[in-house]
Amino acid sequence: MTTYATREIAPETAPGPTVYVRPGETGSIVPLKTRYENFIGGEWLKPIKGGYAADLAPATGLPTAEYARSTVEDIDMAVRAASSAFPGWAATTTHDRAAVLMAIADRLEEHLETIAVMESWENGKPVRETLGADIPLAIDHFRYFAAAIRTQEGTIKKLSNELVSYHFREPIGVVAQIIPWNFPILMAAWKLAPAIAAGNTVVLKPASATPISILYVMELIGDLLPAGVINVVNGSGAHLGRPLVEYDGVGKVAFTGSTATGREIMGYAIKNIIPTTMELGDKSPNVFFDDVARSKDDFYTKAIEGFTMFAVNKGEICSCPSRALLQDGLVTAGFLDDAVDRVKRITVGDPLDTSTEMGPQNSLDQVEKISGYLTLGVEEGASTLTGGKRAEMGGDLSGGYFIEPTVFRGTNDMRIFQEEIFGPVLTVATFSDYDEAIAIANDTIYGLGSGVWSRDTDVTYGRRARTSRPAACGSTRTTSTHLLRSDPS
Ligand code: NAP
Repeated sequence: MTTYATREIAPETAPGPTVYVRPGETGSIVPLKTRYENFIGGEWLKPIKGGYAADLAPATGLPTAEYARSTVEDIDMAVRAASSAFPGWAATTTHDRAAVLMAIADRLEEHLETIAVMESWENGKPVRETLGADIPLAIDHFRYFAAAIRTQEGTIKKLSNELVSYHFREPIGVVAQIIPWNFPILMAAWKLAPAIAAGNTVVLKPASATPISILYVMELIGDLLPAGVINVVNGSGAHLGRPLVEYDGVGKVAFTGSTATGREIMGYAIKNIIPTTMELGDKSPNVFFDDVARSKDDFYTKAIEGFTMFAVNKGEICSCPSRALLQDGLVTAGFLDDAVDRVKRITVGDPLDTSTEMGPQNSLDQVEKISGYLTLGVEEGASTLTGGKRAEMGGDLSGGYFIEPTVFRGTNDMRIFQEEIFGPVLTVATFSDYDEAIAIANDTIYGLGSGVWSRDTDVTYGRRARTSRPAACGSTRTTSTHLLRSDPS
């Protein structure tokens, strides 16, 4: 890790935590510009109607740089560029496309540290996460699809002596991609890598709260792709989403974001009857059984960390373990007290400090939404075990969007248990036995992820009792499903 790019570190802390210089300040490793245009047809184009807005740093609430507030005319230009690029890109061999994806991965790896700092500053997530997870995972994603496209095969089947059916995979065309602000680069990688690997071209609309980090990535990798294969247009989703998805010639839409917006986008996709891929919200349960506290060993400590995972990426994760369900005996055994003590020790601070465990929320809108739920929790009768308000950081972070990591104890029928807060707020309820645990876990409209903590594999793999029912929304229901800790989705 470089040291020239760090802010002043008190000698007594060296060689301890590193604090990166903020993008835009002298000495930063990120060459931040004052204004970012759209990336269309391989060129940096001003928005046709000339609108711009300021991108705010969540840690300070201060502007970093300007980005385009595009209009439908810019969408039109981007879709035309993607359509023109499509025949040429679709005609390339899988070998050639895999080579481009590998080159993108190598280029990103070369610049991992600068991308991580940019992403951290724009989003507010701790740089230890962007250095260790977001950017390495994004890089790996390009490598994964470079390999996957080489191994994909069609099928052939003889239906009768006169009839043979064969299937070849073909690219769809122009894919509209709309992404959220909680993992700006990783979400972009999840969408871009498979689409371009398969021979499609893309128009990507980033979230308005994080419009720039992906443009920084495009500055680094733009020369590796033919013009028009990836186009990035910034601006309001409420204004641009519908014209983009309904544009004649867009062949598919891929969306990650809130369930409400996903529902609207599926509605737009009806116009041209195009396929949709939706990755939406959640209210993930983590179920802790009594045997966790049988001994205060490494497993116990790991379970405490599991409880605390709700604060990773400041709780702005779709599969955030935001509901902790504890078997009654764990409360009497002191597990809840120990877990809450660990939450109290979460280091909240400057996202560019490598010792920070939790940074600011992404935006003021997000702070206001979370604050509303903090008030609601008290009104609903939940008890506040820790946190419960905005965190006052002082100094130049006093304008930042910080919230205290919060743990409420209540019951699963409360709105704070049922609605996606998307912040560092954990709701805790208790249960008496396995069946009650599964019933509470599944008493939600969501079903994206879940976790189970027990020393007994019969419990964790659900061999004792299966009481799951079909998903109402999302992809999985809890029987006993492990949440992969390294997966940020
Ligand atoms: P959001 O409000 O739905 O916004 C997501 C994207 O949609 C943004 O680019 C937004 O643009 C755009 N958008 C807003 N209104 C639109 C409309 N009417 N038509 C088309 N596009 C529109 O979600 P968010 O608050 O950014 O993200 C948080 C949500 O994402 C949470 O619910 C979280 O659970 C979910 N998420 C899910 C996954 C997963 O893999 N399942 C992963 C990450 C996040 P603007 O920013 O300009 O409004």
